[in-house]
Amino acid sequence: MISVKNALDIIDSFPKIYTSEKVNLQDALNLVLFENVSSPINMPPFRQSAMDGYAIKYSEQEKYTVVKESKAGDSGNHSLKVGEAVRIFTGALVPDDGDTVVMQEHVERNGDSILIQKMPEQFANIRKTGEQIKVGEIALKKGTKLNEAAIGFLACLGITTVTVYKIPKVTILVTGNELQKPGTDLEIGKIYESNSVMLKAVLQKSGIKDIEIIAVKDDYQETKTSIKNALEINDILLVSGGISVGDYDFVKEALLENKVEELFYKINQKPGKPLWFGKKQNTYVFALPGNPASALTCFYIYALPLIRKMCGYKNNHLQKVIAKSKSVIKNPSEKTLFLKANLEGEFVEVLQGQSSAMLYTYAMSNVLICVASETAEIKIGEEVTCIKLEM
Ligand code: AMP
Ligand code: MG
Repeated sequence: MISVKNALDIIDSFPKIYTSEKVNLQDALNLVLFENVSSPINMPPFRQSAMDGYAIKYSEQEKYTVVKESKAGDSGNHSLKVGEAVRIFTGALVPDDGDTVVMQEHVERNGDSILIQKMPEQFANIRKTGEQIKVGEIALKKGTKLNEAAIGFLACLGITTVTVYKIPKVTILVTGNELQKPGTDLEIGKIYESNSVMLKAVLQKSGIKDIEIIAVKDDYQETKTSIKNALEINDILLVSGGISVGDYDFVKEALLENKVEELFYKINQKPGKPLWFGKKQNTYVFALPGNPASALTCFYIYALPLIRKMCGYKNNHLQKVIAKSKSVIKNPSEKTLFLKANLEGEFVEVLQGQSSAMLYTYAMSNVLICVASETAEIKIGEEVTCIKLEM
């Protein structure tokens, strides 16, 4: 059995190797750039008018003759003398000879002639070539998580694909003779299989799209074969149940038989003591305890940070905050506790119903209070560490 700290140190030492993939920019929302992206063009690509108005060669005079028109998309580069103006619109190419755009609201027009009522500064209302970014400059750095603005920015540079951290493929393997798929009448002695539904939900929330679910009986051969198949195609394997010490718990043996290297087994914590973590090549395996609340806590604390790190996220662990306890917390067990709790403002309250078999309390919680194994008691008003259950 190892401490929570040591288990987390082991988790944090992985992955050693990251993988990338090229995706369409349109599909890259929330993905993380695996390499710097440099701009293939100047942006703006040419001198653009920032206003609807008149482009002129700046001078002291107030009267100009309109000689041409330039609207957005036009390619004509008209010549312009002092005293001449080009009627121009927002986004249109400013003639090389023009150095100033006068907004139309400051102009009185009469036929082909205009009278400027309020002369702007020279060079006003023109977006310079490459003002936003120049060709060859880094548009976005490696490690940038692409939000919608970043996607729009890269699109305006003409970029259509990006190389990002590859999102891991995940298989959830649920074990147990007692498990019945929801949607059918419950038979005697059976329970509905809920861990895969819950884990798939939290994986989807974390941006994982490729998720396969397999259910097996408490049968050594079946467990071993399913693990073998899952290891071949996956980056992450989450096993649920069958990792305790019962006569029908075959998961550990089946993993070792498949040459998955054990990195730790059993953590000094409550809930989730029997968590098993291992690795085969670049596939990571978490054998989660079957009790639903234990499975979810182990997922949040250990599996999620590794998955998020593989996706390239910098803040890969769930965020921690300090709050004042509204409850007396006793911890005679000398284990690290993860208690389902409700945080409101600066106060946090431990909720009733901490059993690892129960999800009801979990569904009402917004944080887990983490009580260190050395802490025997927390008094009302004392500060505690809360792990926020949001991503
Ligand atoms: P195990 O870890 O296999 O000993 O299972 C511990 C407890 O969790 C037992 O009461 C199981 O019935 C329950 N359990 C195991 N797997 C699941 C699951 N996929 N969905 C819901 N409950 C489960
Ligand atoms: Mg079981």
